[in-house]
Amino acid sequence: MSSINQSGWKPEMGNADDTALATYTGNKALMLEEALIFEIGTAGTTGVDLADAPQVAARLGNLERHRDIGLPGLSEPETVRHYTRLSRQNYAIDLGFFPLGSCTMKHNPRLNEKVARMAGFADVHPLQPVETVQGALGVIYELAHWLVTLTGMKAVAMSPKAGAHGELCGILAIRAALTARGDARSVILCPESAHGTNPATAAFAGYAVENIPATSEGRVDLAALKARLGPDVAGVMITNPNTCGLFERDMRDISDAVHAAGGYVYCDGANFNAIVGRVRPGDLGIDAMHINLHKTFSTPHGGGGPGSGPVVLSEALAPYAPLPFVVKDKDHYRLVEEETAGAHHGSSFGRMVAFHGQMGMFTRALAYIMSHGADGLRQVAEDAVLNANYILRSLEDVLESPFAHSGPCMHEALFSDNGLADGYSTLDIAKGLIDEGYHPMTVYFPLVVHGAMLVEPTETESKATLDQFIGALRSVAERAKAGDPSLKSAPHHAPRRRLDETQAARKPVLVWREPEQAVAAE
Ligand SMILES: *Cc1c(COP(=O)(O)O)cnc(C)c1O
Repeated sequence: MSSINQSGWKPEMGNADDTALATYTGNKALMLEEALIFEIGTAGTTGVDLADAPQVAARLGNLERHRDIGLPGLSEPETVRHYTRLSRQNYAIDLGFFPLGSCTMKHNPRLNEKVARMAGFADVHPLQPVETVQGALGVIYELAHWLVTLTGMKAVAMSPKAGAHGELCGILAIRAALTARGDARSVILCPESAHGTNPATAAFAGYAVENIPATSEGRVDLAALKARLGPDVAGVMITNPNTCGLFERDMRDISDAVHAAGGYVYCDGANFNAIVGRVRPGDLGIDAMHINLHKTFSTPHGGGGPGSGPVVLSEALAPYAPLPFVVKDKDHYRLVEEETAGAHHGSSFGRMVAFHGQMGMFTRALAYIMSHGADGLRQVAEDAVLNANYILRSLEDVLESPFAHSGPCMHEALFSDNGLADGYSTLDIAKGLIDEGYHPMTVYFPLVVHGAMLVEPTETESKATLDQFIGALRSVAERAKAGDPSLKSAPHHAPRRRLDETQAARKPVLVWREPEQAVAAE
């Protein structure tokens, strides 16, 4: 093997276009080359000196490990530099516009961070006596109050740790309610315009999932849904606003029809940013809906932090909410940790997580809600929708927008790959955007649109930022329509060129082995 420098650079890693300008290290000024962690370091090197482990008698039988597990050997400074160099190759909302659709990559106000880091919130332990964490429990209680108020629902389960986890919570509450009335139903209906996690959740909970088609407008086909309702249908899962970026106008009719047939209505509320302060889902007959605090309520996500997916519940489902939850007696907060017979809260379906949820997310979300106030939250929805429509209308002449005729969009603008030159696709546009310095939009989702490109600008971007992005996307789209060959090999300026994404997903290399061994292992 040829020379390997400190960061593991090998000549073949360099950018092939730049041989004339290649540097000895492969670095390009502040753009530092980085190898895989398995390719750097030396076996046996560690960051700490540990005494040899004492010899013990083998007690694990077949589970005993007989070979080296292949951990990379790095000292502490080598480890720190490796991850710091990698972090500089990451894209982040603090670096620039992040148009990923359905993810609501808005700015995370620094006020939230300041509050979340206060010792009384950041340093508490979930097993501390409740007398010593009254303030933290108060935050959970207050936030629960505002989530219930904003959604017009009866109760909220705070513990689910992400949107998909919240979906599971809602579906388990629906099942508990059906079980309580001795009505075992086996089918959940999911429209084509639902987020992929919806059918996955229903299937995970053991339900048969059936699809409901979308209309040519991109909304749920109400007639088809009504026709399928019956005594075997436990409920529906509807994403609203849906993944085509449209509001489901028939939501009230859908809820009434499902209730009349004895089922429950789950709403995927991950896109709540488009309607917060403007629409109360409880008024639409919804029984359960998760809210992604890490989207609508501006807590960091996507590598930046954990998620949090509280689930608001209707009167019918509230008694089945998971444990634990916080209650307030006069000025004292208390945790309900187990079901007590005859208690007013009824019959919880159980516990989803060990403790109460994500404290850091709760403090950030409450800080966000309090600092915006009712008028500020309404404006969040209005500006998010305005920004998305600005992008949709600014680009519909160059990119096909399959639902542009369905009226204004909500929080995100949807385009398809129709009309690109032969052999050019959405992937080429996404790669071209990387060269322009953007994280690409969501691609190939939703599935109802060919070569979908889903752009969610959020309300926190200025018109100047949107204009620059529109200009960049227009330029890349025009190259894809003209068949510019250099676009087919984009990105040219990123640390790596096009990767084999299929191989990376299907055959991930998680432990490094020498190539000969890897071949032998296959
Ligand atoms: C993000 C998202 C989810 C899943 O939320 P996670 O927190 O990633 O589990 C579900 N539905 C929609 C519409 C989403 O945008």
